[in-house]
Amino acid sequence: MKNKKNIIVMISFMLFGILSLSKSMIKEEVPTFNNSKNIENENNINDEDENNENEQKEDIKNKIENKKQDKNITICIDAGHQEKGDSNLEAKAPGSSKKKPRVSQGATGVATKKPEYILNLETSLILREILQNKGYNVIMTRETHDVNISNSERAIFANERNADFVVRIHADSLNDSSKTGACILIPSKNNKYTTSIYETSSEFSKYIAEEMKNSNIKMNGIFEREDITGFNWSKVPVVIVEMGFMSNYNEDLMMSDVNYQKKMMESIANGIDKYFENK
Ligand SMILES: [Zn+2]
Repeated sequence: MKNKKNIIVMISFMLFGILSLSKSMIKEEVPTFNNSKNIENENNINDEDENNENEQKEDIKNKIENKKQDKNITICIDAGHQEKGDSNLEAKAPGSSKKKPRVSQGATGVATKKPEYILNLETSLILREILQNKGYNVIMTRETHDVNISNSERAIFANERNADFVVRIHADSLNDSSKTGACILIPSKNNKYTTSIYETSSEFSKYIAEEMKNSNIKMNGIFEREDITGFNWSKVPVVIVEMGFMSNYNEDLMMSDVNYQKKMMESIANGIDKYFENK
């Protein structure tokens, strides 16, 4: 009997031992299982990283698109001049006693004999199409030549419609027929009438100038101007793009070439895009 008891106790101990051993084995397996899971997770994370990157790019793209749609960004295009200039005077700035002609006649192409107001509207209409295709809301100060809208009235037009940006399209002319290249005019930093719009106008001009350079358009630079009525009356960030010199034979011809017009207007539109992308 004693032996039997001992045997039972021994068997019990053995069973207990086997059970404990198998338990610890299971315990050991658990971390192994966890480890393999972790590796799997890491792989998933790598996949997710790539996915996230693509998603982020897509997100940024969508954000810009949404920004355009949500914010309903309005760009005002002012095609410079009109069929007949108006030499009657208007105040150069709100409340100023200094006066300037309402709207001047503009330049004429030495090669094309085309008046500037026609060139300006031709290119402005191309710019409108490009901007609309990019999702911007576009307003125009004029869509025909037979209008009489002064420079202050053009600025007020954009102010009243809460435009986000005004781009004024012009072409240059000089007695020196050798001079070529585009430039951008912006309000002056030191002008009390344009303090609030200087910074943003300057930012826009830099992006546009950069895009023009990238498109191999000859760019002479960005110049601050205090004497421009359309700037002084503007509550909206504004630039003038002087596309080139109508007083230079070749540049005049080039500015009437629709491919060059598209290239220049695309660079303006891309510059506007860049501003909003980086905002
Ligand atoms: Zn002009």
